[in-house]
Amino acid sequence: MTRTLRVVVPTPAHSQLSEPLTYASELPLAAGCLVRVPLGRREVCGVVWDAEDGAAEVLAADKIKAIGGPLGDIAPLSSNWRQLVTFAANYYQRSLGEVALAALPPQLRELDAGQLARRLKRARADASEAAPAQGPPLTPEQADALAAIRAEAGPFLLFGATGSGKTEVYLNAVQELLAREPDAQALVLVPEINLTPQLQARFVERFGANAVVPLHSGMTNPQRLRSWLAAHAGQARIVLGTRMAIFASLPKLRLIVVDEEHDPSYKQQEGARYSARDLAVYRARLEGAKVVLGSATPSLESWQACDRGRYRLLEMPSRVGAGALPRVRLVDMNQQPKHTLFSAPLMAAIRERVARGEQSLVFLNRRGYAPVLACGACDWRSDCPHCSAYRVFHKIDRTLRCHHCGYTERVPRACPACGNVDIAPLGRGTERLEEQLAELLADATRPDGTPARVARMDADSTRQKGALEQQLAQVHAGEVDVLVGTQMVTKGHDFRRITLVAAVNPDSALFSSDFRAPERLFSLLMQAAGRAGRDAAQASASEMWVQTWHPQHPLFAALKKHDFPAFAAQQLKERQQAAMPPFAYQAVLRAEARTQEVAQQFLQAAADSAPGLEGSEHVFVYAPVPMTVQRVANVERAQLLLESGSRPALQAFLADWQARLQSVRPRGLIRWAVDVDPLVI
Ligand code: ADP
Ligand code: ZN
Ligand code: ZN
Repeated sequence: MTRTLRVVVPTPAHSQLSEPLTYASELPLAAGCLVRVPLGRREVCGVVWDAEDGAAEVLAADKIKAIGGPLGDIAPLSSNWRQLVTFAANYYQRSLGEVALAALPPQLRELDAGQLARRLKRARADASEAAPAQGPPLTPEQADALAAIRAEAGPFLLFGATGSGKTEVYLNAVQELLAREPDAQALVLVPEINLTPQLQARFVERFGANAVVPLHSGMTNPQRLRSWLAAHAGQARIVLGTRMAIFASLPKLRLIVVDEEHDPSYKQQEGARYSARDLAVYRARLEGAKVVLGSATPSLESWQACDRGRYRLLEMPSRVGAGALPRVRLVDMNQQPKHTLFSAPLMAAIRERVARGEQSLVFLNRRGYAPVLACGACDWRSDCPHCSAYRVFHKIDRTLRCHHCGYTERVPRACPACGNVDIAPLGRGTERLEEQLAELLADATRPDGTPARVARMDADSTRQKGALEQQLAQVHAGEVDVLVGTQMVTKGHDFRRITLVAAVNPDSALFSSDFRAPERLFSLLMQAAGRAGRDAAQASASEMWVQTWHPQHPLFAALKKHDFPAFAAQQLKERQQAAMPPFAYQAVLRAEARTQEVAQQFLQAAADSAPGLEGSEHVFVYAPVPMTVQRVANVERAQLLLESGSRPALQAFLADWQARLQSVRPRGLIRWAVDVDPLVI
């Protein structure tokens, strides 16, 4: 008997097809089955969304194509998984097909049934029982947190100082779960690929290599398929991954951990712009699983959710082993001689560390040598010809590189405008910082009389495969005395010998037009401070230095006391007064076109179509504006901000708006996208 199936297929982001598509099948296939289906002239992978009965008349019309067949012997995706995808597609205003297919490993589409069967068999053979290696006895704070996780429903916000032993709580929560429920699965999310190896090592040490599978975009397609199959088959007890892992198929999911839940990396910045942190909370509720969000500096969204009793706050204020948090020292740059890069007291403190054989960490959020090269005789600057931005001077290979579009050229011998040979760098990046520190420390000596060693770690120095691991190993082995880097060096690393951390120029975030900039700066500085004094024996002498032109800023007062609650209270008060998130909900419509006029024309038409849409009386539509970096790779960019006091009203509005957006699309518009709960506006 022929029957009809509704199948989700890869569709464009803003599909005008009504999804799912209807196909005919001789086989009775359950919802969630993976199938091959014809689409246009191609054959694609699809997911049976639901089976439909009694469509014989439609079949008779002979308009419905037949499916190509099932995709190997793979168990159907669960209804919870389909519900998660449906929610994400609706909430983030994308097509079902885009979200569903992006959530599956790419190689699934390429292999035939025989190949898939072999892969599945291997995934099953790989897996073995999780065998717990026992951890250390818990501190009272850890034991209390764990007891709450055991007894209550959550969601939990584990607010623990850096080094308070949050990871140990995650390990124990997972361990208890696996011991209690023989086939339960846990999902552990980390913000960045760089941080997966460390956490993975700790989980592997505790549970054995085969119990833990990684899932992140740094893996090859075969590796990803293998992890995905192990998770889908229920064999992998623990999946550890970055934001994409939130969509892993986990039929026995019982616990989700989101480490560093405040980290902006949890928000996908292209395609379906989902927040893996927010989806984790949704998914946990859907699956009846527990969710633990952990951070030393929680997002204000999560902090407010605790205030309102929606999340359960678990606090761990003390560092394990009673190691004190580093003392914060502010250097007032107004009191320093002109053009001071490193203040004298900071240099003296770094030299002291070098002499004692301890390490220092200096960070600056700008890579390259200098952000711009300028002519002293005319007003030439190293603009990117394709973007509204300067190209950054990289001295190491004497190039000018655009950090937006990648356009790279050799540094000109003379000013391209006037021929003057005296062109000079303005401002500084990590490369220049490294050079200047090496000069300033040229006569500094280590305990054994050898010279100080300065090294740099940023996206440039770690570009080659394996470079990051190698550089981290050097720092751990004590082969570096002063490490210079971007915020990359401040995240997560368990450096044992660092006793001084310095932020040389963090001020720009204090007065940024981005209302989230102070929140990000505070968490960055706290996180950086957390790198110092992790070894309790040295903790008492550890220091966090901040050079600033605004030492009176309330952010620094809270930082000095390591007082996140005070900082959060002050920020939330400001946000409430200004009716900003988390007291309001936002979405941004972004448009790209060859000209700014076309981009704005689209946004204006979109804004004009707003009145009368569902929920529109509760949605405030701002005027279209160019984006901060207006032109990238010769594409003009503009955006339109929407704000509402009601999330349901905003959601209803956006859903209703989609069809209008299609119809007001002008000629020449390259693309547009809606970003719901945007992190950067
Ligand atoms: P966080 O994730 O909160 O920054 P970690 O879990 O990395 O903290 O713990 C910091 C250090 O303390 C690690 O080296 C960890 O092995 C150690 N540690 C954690 N809990 C305990 C404990 N109960 N007893 C002894 N050492 C612990
Ligand atoms: Zn010139
Ligand atoms: Zn460019």
